[in-house]
Amino acid sequence: NGFVELGLAPELIRAVADLGFTQPTTVQAQTIPLAMASEDADAKFIDLMVSSQTGSGKTAAFLLPVLHTLLQQQAAAEAQERAEFDRAVAEAAAKGEPAPKRPKRKDPTSSRNFKPATPGALILCPTRELAQQVAHDAIGLVQHCRGLRIASVVGGMPYQLQLARLQNADLVVATPGRLLDLQRSSQIKLDKVQFLVVDEGDRMLDLGFADDLAEVNKLTIERKQTMMFSATFAPRIQQLAARVMRQPRKIQI
Ligand code: AMP
Repeated sequence: NGFVELGLAPELIRAVADLGFTQPTTVQAQTIPLAMASEDADAKFIDLMVSSQTGSGKTAAFLLPVLHTLLQQQAAAEAQERAEFDRAVAEAAAKGEPAPKRPKRKDPTSSRNFKPATPGALILCPTRELAQQVAHDAIGLVQHCRGLRIASVVGGMPYQLQLARLQNADLVVATPGRLLDLQRSSQIKLDKVQFLVVDEGDRMLDLGFADDLAEVNKLTIERKQTMMFSATFAPRIQQLAARVMRQPRKIQI
């Protein structure tokens, strides 16, 4: 499978194989290696501006590197949790105390345990249909990833249903208007977002989302990486890119 050379996590390679993807498309081959930070501890992520059309495979081009990094972070956090627990067990044994119990996971669907969602990755789409398609693709790609959760936040969908899924989401796919509604009502906090993707940037501007994008930019200012996908690099897109990205690398397909 041609995805192996891209250095993606085995769970993601299995998923693309199950989806019938045998070779990365052009936009995937060019974007995925650049979008992933190298393995060293102080590796930096670079911002990317990609011109690509619908049908080019652009969705997996941004989802795969983001999911890959989220998976790596999750594995590192679990290893640390295990190491801390093992140390606590060893310390208790040395003192002749009873072994500590593993911490219980709280039921996130219980309203008593409500806390705002704090996703690590945010994908912004101009329309509800596109957001739902991207969320669907993301769910397909995480089919072998234990504990990576995807949620979508779009206008015109039952509020409660979205909120239940949103609670523990690692990656959120959203239209800007509904996302900011949820942010203002404290259902979601954006300050843990590390990866921001703006899909179909040209349509975002056509649909009047420039101010909403500026707001999301401010709310996620601590993020590590921004990627913007657009059919063209027209001057107004370049202006938008200049506002939300730092010296983006341009990939023209
Ligand atoms: P997109 O441009 O993201 O809308 O993708 C267009 C279609 O191509 C979607 O139905 C994907 O499932 C499919 N696709 C994406 N990447 C690949 C690939 N590497 N091989 C085969 N099909 C793919």
